[in-house]
Amino acid sequence: MRLPRFEYLEPDDLTQALDMLASHKEDVKIIAGGTDLLVRMKNQLLTPAFVMSMKQLSGLSYIKNHDDTLTIGAKTTLADIVDSDDIQEGYTALAQAAERVGAETIQHHRGTISGNILQDTRCIHYNQSRFHRSGRQPCHKDGGKICYARDEGDRCYSTYQGDMAPALIALEAKVVLSKKDGKRTINLSDLFTSDGFHPFSIEPDELLTEIILPKQKNNSKSAYQRLSYRSAIDYPITSAGVMINSKAEKIKKARIVVGSMSRAPLFMVKASETLAEKSLTDIDAFKEAAGIAMDNAGTFAVHNAGSTLEYRCDMTFVMVLKALEQAAGIEK
Ligand SMILES: Cc1cc2nc3c(=O)[nH]c(=O)nc-3n(C[C@H](O)[C@H](O)[C@H](O)COP(=O)(O)OP(=O)(O)OC[C@H]3O[C@@H](n4cnc5c(N)ncnc54)[C@H](O)[C@@H]3O)c2cc1C
Ligand code: SF4
Repeated sequence: MRLPRFEYLEPDDLTQALDMLASHKEDVKIIAGGTDLLVRMKNQLLTPAFVMSMKQLSGLSYIKNHDDTLTIGAKTTLADIVDSDDIQEGYTALAQAAERVGAETIQHHRGTISGNILQDTRCIHYNQSRFHRSGRQPCHKDGGKICYARDEGDRCYSTYQGDMAPALIALEAKVVLSKKDGKRTINLSDLFTSDGFHPFSIEPDELLTEIILPKQKNNSKSAYQRLSYRSAIDYPITSAGVMINSKAEKIKKARIVVGSMSRAPLFMVKASETLAEKSLTDIDAFKEAAGIAMDNAGTFAVHNAGSTLEYRCDMTFVMVLKALEQAAGIEK
C-alpha cells in the first residue's frame, strides 16, 4: 500500500510549527511518531495536502516533576514514560498503560504520548484498505449515510481504543493546546467529543503541547488493566484505569475509567462514588463497582471491535475488578 501524495513540512521550532498550522488549518495533519497516522494514510482513510512533522520540536520531549504537578511534553515517547521512575512510582497506571501498548518495537520507540491520546477512533468495518471498502456502500465516516456497526445508526459509533487516555483521565490529567495567538488548558476528558467521526475538540490550528498531572497524594494508588487478543500487537477490546485515594485503610476517593467500549473513554461516576468510605480490602464493594461500570459501559458499546459485545461487557467487569484490586494492593 502506498502513501497518497502530500507536501512534507518540518518546522524548526514551536513558533514556526504554530505558524504553519495557522496557515494551512484543515489541510495539514500533524505527524509525531506516525504509527497511527501513516497506517490511516496508507489505507486512504486520510489524504491531507500537507503533513507537518514534530521531528525537530525536541523541546516538547520531557518529563518534569514539580511541587504540585508532573508535566509531560507532547513528543515524549511511550518508552520514556515506561522508564520514568517518577511515573512508575507516582502514576503507576500511566506506566502500565504505556507498557501495554501493542507492538513494542514500533510503539515504544516511535509512538508518542500526544499521538497516542489523539489517535483516531476505530471500527472493523472502516479501518480497512480502500479496496476492501470499495466493495460496499460508504458508511457515515466514509461520507455515506449508513452504519454497519449499529442497525439504523444515524451517526458514527467508532470506538476509541487508545490505552493512555483511560489511565490519564483516572489520574485527572489536563492538556495544554497551543496555537499561534495563545494557548488553553482543559481537562483531558473535555478533549473528547463522544462523536466517532470527529472524536476530539482540538482545533485544526492547535498543537497539543503538554500533559499536566496533579501531584498524587501519598496515599493514592493507581492501576491499569486491558484485554487484547494478541497482547504483542493488538489494540485493547476493553480496558480500565483506576485511581484510589485512601486514609486509614478507608477509601476517600476513587476514579474508574473504562476504555475501548465507546467513542471516548468513560469516566464511571456512579461506580466510583460507591467506593467512598469502603475498606481497602472490601472485595464485595469492588465487585459492586465493577458491576455498575460493566452495565454502564454496555449501554455505549456497539459491535465494531472484533469481539462480541457480551464478551467485551463481561470482561469489562474483570478488568475493572483487577485494576481496583491492584490499586488497593490486594491483587491475587
Ligand atoms: C500494529 C499496531 C498496534 C497498535 N496497538 C496499539 C495499542 O495496543 N494501544 C494503543 O493505544 N495504540 C496502539 N496503536 C496505535 C499507535 O501506534 C499508538 O497509539 C501510538 O502511541 C501513536 O503515537 P504516534 O506518535 O505514532 O502518533 P501519530 O501517528 O504520529 O499521530 C496520531 C494522531 O495524533 C495526531 N497528533 C499527534 N501528535 C499531536 C499533537 N502534539 N497535537 C495535535 N495532534 C497530534 C496526529 O495528527 C494523528 O492524527 C497501534 C498501532 C499499530 C500500527
Ligand atoms: S461505527 Fe458505523 S459509521 Fe462509524 S466507522 Fe463503523 S460502520 Fe462506519
